[in-house]
Amino acid sequence: MKVYKFGGASVKDAEGLKNVAKILVADEPNNTLIVVSAMGKTTNAFEKLAQSYFNKSDDCQVLLNAIKAYHYTIIETLFTDKNHPVYNEVNNFFVEIDWILEDEPQDPYHFIYDQMVPTGELIASCILSNYLNLSGILNKWIDARAYLQTDNNYRNANINWPKTQDLITQSLPAILKNELIVTQGFIGNTSENFTTTLGREGSDYTAAIFGNCLNASSVTIWKDVTGVLNADPKLFTDTVKFDQLSYSEAIEMAYYGATVIHPKTLKPLQNKNIPLLVKPFMASHESGTKICNTENPIKTPIIIVKNNQVLISLSTKDVSFINQNHLKNIFVAFADLNVQVNTMQISALTFSACFDFDETQFNYLNQSLHIEFNLKYNQNLQLITVRHYNDAALKKLIENKEILLEQLSRTTAQIVVKSKTEE
Ligand code: ASP
Ligand code: MG
Repeated sequence: MKVYKFGGASVKDAEGLKNVAKILVADEPNNTLIVVSAMGKTTNAFEKLAQSYFNKSDDCQVLLNAIKAYHYTIIETLFTDKNHPVYNEVNNFFVEIDWILEDEPQDPYHFIYDQMVPTGELIASCILSNYLNLSGILNKWIDARAYLQTDNNYRNANINWPKTQDLITQSLPAILKNELIVTQGFIGNTSENFTTTLGREGSDYTAAIFGNCLNASSVTIWKDVTGVLNADPKLFTDTVKFDQLSYSEAIEMAYYGATVIHPKTLKPLQNKNIPLLVKPFMASHESGTKICNTENPIKTPIIIVKNNQVLISLSTKDVSFINQNHLKNIFVAFADLNVQVNTMQISALTFSACFDFDETQFNYLNQSLHIEFNLKYNQNLQLITVRHYNDAALKKLIENKEILLEQLSRTTAQIVVKSKTEE
């Protein structure tokens, strides 16, 4: 069997859904499980709604109406029969949101978020399933919450693998013998039956979980790029597509911030040697990129740019050397506040670290480290990571940039810069 995942961009309008049907027909699909994300920017819209509800702002109805209007425009284009059950089914998902909004918010934000935001996925999968059936591509819609069991770490839930594996293998292979399955990404369920989410962009991970538990022959992620490129095409013009990449290279790329694949996606596939295909949904005949067990050496430098970085430099208050006890205290502060360091450097008198800037987290960190250290920092920086770098590539990247920190290992260069030109 195989797993297909369609992201938000591929189902952002009625044309997108028609294109999904086209891809499936060309493929003569069978034994396929389809995971879909929320349509277009729906997750952002639901996030705003959840925030407004939590903050008791008065724009909740306006925000919800915009989400409804967007989806109903798509539905009306695809289903001319106004009595089609899809109208009722989608309405039922919105009624759940109406019910939440009727009451005052009582619960913590992360919990509220998870009860509201993945509605985008439920609606998208409901519309897609109905549309495929209408187009003669017979499929069964399933609620992923009946299968993906998680802990209650809301907004970043962890999968309970044994339970999830059991639930999936008990019933899904039998369904797949007769028809396709359409389900939704991003969403899970606790043992107390509350909805959880797997983190932003988590639908890729959902696809990998189903792929792992069903021993898929491949998992395909349909994207708005031709495959995995050596750099973000929005930032660089001369990008190169990889035909093949090893799991470990792709894991490194995701770790350093390449957004093409969700970082958690690769492990469940690598564990079972299931290839991950990244293919363009607008040119489905193209081969895209195959991520698998390959020894192919990488010849093109891979460039990953992370914005919104902060670089801190710490020195001791008595101007003594940075020793192991200082380092211990610094790392305890990082661990306590969940600061994930992207790169760091140490000299006799200073310790520097670069990480993603989050205002609340940063303020706490600043307070905690100030007790023992003098702390200086620079904000609004860029971290450029280059895997398999060469001198020419590095030179080109740092032109016109003020370098604040540079770190070179055998395969990876990391440079923290202030960009002089607006990017
Ligand atoms: N819709 C969710 C998000 O935008 C999950 C996903 O797209 O993978 O983060
Ligand atoms: Mg999305």
